[in-house]
Amino acid sequence: MSTGRRRPSKQLLSQELTLQEQVHVALGSASTLDDFYVILCCMLADPNGFGFSRAFLLRYDEVQRTFVGRLAVGATSAKDHRRLRREIAEEARRLEEQVEIIKSISSEARVLQPLYDLRFHSLWIHFLQERDSAGGLNDMFRQVRLSEAELSANHLLRVLASQARPTLFENTEKVGIEGLEEFIRAPFLGGRLATKRGLHAIIIADRSFELRKIDEGAMYHFQWLLNHASVTLENVELLEELRETTARLQEVDRIKSNFLSIISHELRTPLTSIVGFVQILQEEKAGALTNFQRDLLRRVAYHAAHLQSMVNDLIEIAQVEGGGMINVHMQAVDPLSALLKTLPKIESRRGSKPISIEPIVTSEVPLVRTDPNALERIFFHLLDNAVKFIPDQGHVRIFFLRRDDWLDIAIEDTGIGISSENLRRIFDYFYQVDSRLERVYGGMGIGLTIVKLLLDATGGQIRAESTPGVGSRFTVSYPIASAAVAPDAFLPTPGL
Ligand code: ADP
Repeated sequence: MSTGRRRPSKQLLSQELTLQEQVHVALGSASTLDDFYVILCCMLADPNGFGFSRAFLLRYDEVQRTFVGRLAVGATSAKDHRRLRREIAEEARRLEEQVEIIKSISSEARVLQPLYDLRFHSLWIHFLQERDSAGGLNDMFRQVRLSEAELSANHLLRVLASQARPTLFENTEKVGIEGLEEFIRAPFLGGRLATKRGLHAIIIADRSFELRKIDEGAMYHFQWLLNHASVTLENVELLEELRETTARLQEVDRIKSNFLSIISHELRTPLTSIVGFVQILQEEKAGALTNFQRDLLRRVAYHAAHLQSMVNDLIEIAQVEGGGMINVHMQAVDPLSALLKTLPKIESRRGSKPISIEPIVTSEVPLVRTDPNALERIFFHLLDNAVKFIPDQGHVRIFFLRRDDWLDIAIEDTGIGISSENLRRIFDYFYQVDSRLERVYGGMGIGLTIVKLLLDATGGQIRAESTPGVGSRFTVSYPIASAAVAPDAFLPTPGL
């Protein structure tokens, strides 16, 4: 065994430059581990690249502690190799001709060269993969599974896994190769691919059927490629992880949406019956009530209505999420009348708290481009919160401010306020500033999520500002549609 550390000759270095460029571009283009393995092994077995006859990659499965044959490429005989070379050379000539033609008609032809190199390289990869010139070797190699525990102490894979640098094996006398006899032909080079997490794979490359020895240059290139590949591998691993996480999250999201939709619809039907029957009882259609019974029914009705509003929120979120808001009818909408329609609903949520709700209109309020139902729902959720988070008494004011082609509608309250770190998260699903256990305000933490989804579906925007202990301001913005509405009809109504 010997380890190549010396630099190659000048001539090799100039060769190496183009090769390095190619490796850089080719490995950098891999976005999955499988692509990465194919490119790596094909580059080793490419007669115009690293020039080995064959290349093998055994992936190390750290959970099962097993080496798995993932990829083998190359030609099994010198004749096969020569044939591939010939075919590639012919294809290269054809490419060259095309490039010459383009050069003769375009002065920008210089930029074609790197593309041409890459195309030429991928051509070789294509040949190796599609033709399986190795005559079934690739398939056979993919069956290899070697458990680390069962390998002898001097097994080739153990030896390579323990060494940072690649090694040249002139023969297989000093190492065990059980399980790999079919594939190993001396002399060959072996090395490991490792990342910060540890061993990733073992790579073996040989020139068995060519009489040429593995020289210093080949050794140097092999080591350089493995070093470079280890670095690139970390990015590919990260990309792969990201893809897996995204797929998992999408699945969880899909399950959650289905769950939301099913559960909310299943709850709505019995709730509607409860509300309806309670109403019949309250209207004494089923017999006269005592005062005590009337009081109990009033409470049942109150809680059922609360439950209904939560179920409606869930249905709303499931609808808006699952393929966009149903029935969005974009049109010119008068924001003041949308607000006035919402106020009575808020009135019932205010209870006995002395809170004034005042629309402040100082100039003409223009029509905005949105869906009227969506705007009413947005007003409802924002005003509901404004009233809810004022502990005992205070004010809610609604301002309308024209800003170029946009209308800003600001809902300001004198409530408990929100700290800046919470302000960033309040539009997230089920996010509430105070934790479940110490919760004093009702709700599920989806009102603002609905507001955001409705705004996204109707082309609006929202901004939240707040000072803890002083109050909050939520500003909804919509593009102005057209003609304005006279302000006189909607004067402030203190203590509405
Ligand atoms: P919830 O049903 O809890 O009101 P939201 O999604 O509407 O859910 O709001 C999320 C959280 O943001 C609330 O639980 C509350 O902590 C905070 N929040 C929203 N609006 C206000 C406000 N006007 N004043 C203070 N805190 C607010």
